[in-house]
Amino acid sequence: MKDNRSIKILTSFRAYIYKFVGIVCFVCCAQFLCGQDKSSIDLKYLGCAGWEITQGNTTVLIDPYISRLKLGSGKSISKEDNRRTFSSDDYFESDTSVIDEIISKVDYILVHHSHFDHLSDVPYIASKTGARVIGTVTTCNILEAYGIPAEQLVRVKGGEDYQFENFSVRIIPSLHSALKDKQYFDSRTYTEPPALPLRIKDFVEGGSIMFLLRFDSHSVLSAGSMNFIEREIQGLSPDIILPGVNFSRLEIFNYTERLLRATNYPKIVIPAHWDNYRVPYGFSQQKAIDAKIIPFIKEVKEASPDSKVIIPVHLETITIE
Ligand SMILES: [Zn+2]
Repeated sequence: MKDNRSIKILTSFRAYIYKFVGIVCFVCCAQFLCGQDKSSIDLKYLGCAGWEITQGNTTVLIDPYISRLKLGSGKSISKEDNRRTFSSDDYFESDTSVIDEIISKVDYILVHHSHFDHLSDVPYIASKTGARVIGTVTTCNILEAYGIPAEQLVRVKGGEDYQFENFSVRIIPSLHSALKDKQYFDSRTYTEPPALPLRIKDFVEGGSIMFLLRFDSHSVLSAGSMNFIEREIQGLSPDIILPGVNFSRLEIFNYTERLLRATNYPKIVIPAHWDNYRVPYGFSQQKAIDAKIIPFIKEVKEASPDSKVIIPVHLETITIE
């Protein structure tokens, strides 16, 4: 027979367990109802310089180029790709069925520059989702031409640091990649909305910017090109960096080392703008990984041994706790 004292201890122990289980259930349910864990961030690679970044209930797209048109001729297009072939003189057309499959709720869209592989799908996505777009004057004028209302557009020139509901974004003046053996230079801008329709080549650069996004517990530095202005990123200390790593990075003096040193050696490095974006999702990117990512990982290891490089896979979510 149990004495009264041991019954009392057993009862209070049971009450303690019930209370503990109750608290755990409450926390789990609250997390489920409020979205993901507030401290983690999800990044989904959309190819080219494109990302979907989600924290809590906020979804931000960066340079979403999803149509991945079969553009030009030569080695970059695939014989197995039986879609229509485009030339840069053709009018741009979004592949709306692929976009509809991939994109649903979006709150903000950030655009690094106005070339077709960064901006051309934004008119369709902005009008479908009502997302606010942050970009240069040229980016916003192109979007106005496509009928996106002015109040949906945030025109920036670099240097702004804006607070939104759940995150802030610093706009960083930057430079475009040094294409064509450093011969690339394009000063064209749209100071008014251009006449539609736009050919692929009408998506002019219109200046380049980078973004520092700050969420509750993570900050992300994103780039749309293989270039940067060192003094503009000096001392930023993001914990996640999304640098462009296409071949044109090799035109820049000490690209990887200077980039990582200036940003205080970010913990997580996820390369962008390295894939062959003239083939659809699902086609092999192994050639691009071997030629660009593997040498880049070596550069990171030498410059910043404690940084972790994550090779992104199209449309797969990377969660950073
Ligand atoms: Zn470009």
